[in-house]
Amino acid sequence: MTGATDAAELRRRTAELLAAHPPATTDRLDFLRARFDAGLAWVHFPEGLGGLGAPRSLQPVVDAELAAAGAPDNDPRRIGIGLGMAAPTILQYGTEEQKRRFLKPLWTGEEVWCQLFSEPGAGSDLAALGTRAVPEGEDWVVNGQKVWTSSAHLARWAILIARTDPDVPKHRGITYFVCDMTDPGVEVRPLRQITGEAEFNEVFLTDVRIPDAHRLGEVGDGWRVAQTTLNNERVAIGGARLPREGGMIGPVSGTWRERPELRTHDLHQRLLTLWVEAEVARLTGERLRQQLVAGQPGPEGAGMKLAFARLNQQISGLEVELLGEEGLLYDDWTMRRPELVDFTGRDAGYRYLRSKGNSIEGGTSEVLLNIVAERVLGLPAEPRTDKDVAWKDLSR
Ligand SMILES: Cc1cc2nc3c(=O)[nH]c(=O)nc-3n(C[C@H](O)[C@H](O)[C@H](O)COP(=O)(O)OP(=O)(O)OC[C@H]3O[C@@H](n4cnc5c(N)ncnc54)[C@H](O)[C@@H]3O)c2cc1C
Repeated sequence: MTGATDAAELRRRTAELLAAHPPATTDRLDFLRARFDAGLAWVHFPEGLGGLGAPRSLQPVVDAELAAAGAPDNDPRRIGIGLGMAAPTILQYGTEEQKRRFLKPLWTGEEVWCQLFSEPGAGSDLAALGTRAVPEGEDWVVNGQKVWTSSAHLARWAILIARTDPDVPKHRGITYFVCDMTDPGVEVRPLRQITGEAEFNEVFLTDVRIPDAHRLGEVGDGWRVAQTTLNNERVAIGGARLPREGGMIGPVSGTWRERPELRTHDLHQRLLTLWVEAEVARLTGERLRQQLVAGQPGPEGAGMKLAFARLNQQISGLEVELLGEEGLLYDDWTMRRPELVDFTGRDAGYRYLRSKGNSIEGGTSEVLLNIVAERVLGLPAEPRTDKDVAWKDLSR
């Protein structure tokens, strides 16, 4: 341990980085790589893996110093799946070799990641998945179909769960892998969404060879490994750090202030209620992040993500109503392949349409309510009749 656990030490190290690599004259990627090597990428990660083993709550100290100095960031919105989901899973379950191979280019954004979890027959009931991985020599041979794979068209790597044992109950026969998206057996086809864009894809896996060295965790333990990914996903989707009036509430509040001719008493009451709820959600997210300092997120992230989806849909609906006919305009219906989801830089129609997916992605709101009921509130679980039945004997 280096003693870099307090804010003063992190400031000193940040100043050292800036002196050795002045942002004005340093290539962006060189700067990001140097930042990773200095342990200032994610300070709570271990030394040698982009961090210093410092409290996670001190990251903003580094970020603020670097932003003030005009340093480039790693464009976190472009690489959200890598940062928010793959990285914590690799950190918890990866071998030393896997951590050293994957984490640095993941953090710098040189390698984009996607998530090959959902299938046409396995979404909410993810453990029912049917993509097969069969051992062959030092490799696994994977065949199956995944769907709704965000950023697959940009990705170099994927986190993948596949069935390695069909003879045991569904949760027990799954194994977790890192899949090379450049393998010739990986075919990525766009899926067009309600926004007209194709953020996500269907992915066909035909005799894809994955070396056993790219397995994360034990054979058959993939469901447990996937819980780390899914718990982090909910925090990544619903728990982003925002300034006051950041996120969906910002544009509608701005329109309210700038366009007095649109105001009505009824819309005012609704805006005030939603503004307060958005602020409560923001502060709750802050508290959740502070709890994360102590470890991995648990099922509490489900509550955050639930509130995020509901508020986004209600706020964007209010914005469309406030704008009247203008709110029905939409900028571009041609199929586009966006590199990131940007709620604030777009028109109201986009926000309204895109937020529909918020209550589906990362677990539907109904399923998250079940998780909160069972795992946060301790209420009786839903009856499950398939718990002790071998996957191959389940009806599909
Ligand atoms: C924008 C977007 C991006 C996505 N990106 C990815 C990605 O990158 N990688 C990936 O793997 N997946 C991704 N997904 C997929 C997402 O995780 C699934 O769509 C989601 O888990 C729901 O699964 P499903 O679509 O199969 O719906 P189903 O599971 O078939 O659900 C259908 C309906 O039944 C309800 N339901 C199901 N089970 C229950 C239950 N037990 N109790 C009550 N109601 C229930 C659901 O709430 C829903 O309303 C993405 C989805 C969206 C919308």
